[in-house]
Amino acid sequence: GTPTALMVGSGIGAEQGILIRNGEAVQTLKDVSLVAFDKTGTITAGKPQLTDIVPAPGFTDQEILERAASAERLSEHPLARAIGEAAQDRGLSPKESESFSSTTGAGVTARTGGMVIRVGSRQLMLQAGIDPSPLEEVLKDMESRARTAILVAVDDRLAGVLAVADPLKKSSARAIKALEERGIATAMITGDNQGTARAIAEAAGITQVVAQVLPDGKVAEIRRLQEQYGLVAMVGDGINDAPALKQANVGIAIGTGTDIAIEAADITLVRGDLMTLVTAVDLSRATFRKIK
Ligand code: ADP
Ligand code: MG
Repeated sequence: GTPTALMVGSGIGAEQGILIRNGEAVQTLKDVSLVAFDKTGTITAGKPQLTDIVPAPGFTDQEILERAASAERLSEHPLARAIGEAAQDRGLSPKESESFSSTTGAGVTARTGGMVIRVGSRQLMLQAGIDPSPLEEVLKDMESRARTAILVAVDDRLAGVLAVADPLKKSSARAIKALEERGIATAMITGDNQGTARAIAEAAGITQVVAQVLPDGKVAEIRRLQEQYGLVAMVGDGINDAPALKQANVGIAIGTGTDIAIEAADITLVRGDLMTLVTAVDLSRATFRKIK
């Protein structure tokens, strides 16, 4: 209708850092009852930094960091970048891999220097027949402090834990509070583990958390939320989020994220500032208010 054209045409959104691809979705936004958020790069800044190295007996800090960085060289995951940068900062020189494979939502496996190096979640280790439980206490401790704990194994032996922290965006907690004040519920959907996800969600003020979700699982989760809440918006930045952005009644991408997410979305928050989402809700409500 006309109001959409007016709103899009007037460039109101663009001035505020809101890019609109689908005017109808902006109209839907005023009636959304829940907004689901991805974690990494959406609620958090998406620039994880290595914070801790905990080697298992018989291994050194340098050894596990260098081996992990070698295995991660071909991965484009933000965690891989954090590990690579930390190795570089310490003057280590990661080696080329003879073979490499990545398991979505779990980690990487590579053969370097004649050894098989695994870097990733508990699940990745279990799949390889390696029992992660000797390091469970270390993992729990890191996760309770909102860090993502990454296991490293060398030739089927647990070699240690690398912990990575990805702080919240400045706008996250304020935006969540503002949405709740407008009667909109919030949820977080992430591939990360339960402990880290809970700690991050708590800091952001999000009460509903779905953790350890594989990319296909994000779509299923949006469907479930739609059955429960009706109209649902999803905010995400990754390739993994694209199908869920399509499934949601309003798909919202982070402008600093991947092109694939932006193409799948109805609206883009250009600077990635979550307060501009609140502005979009307010614009939608003001523009499409029922005239009585
Ligand atoms: P998110 O939804 O937070 O972006 P992902 O689905 O990408 O998370 O990854 C889920 C989990 O899988 C990570 O928290 C990590 O434990 C593990 N993982 C995935 N890729 C890698 C990698 N390249 N190196 C180490 N761990 C990884
Ligand atoms: Mg993400």
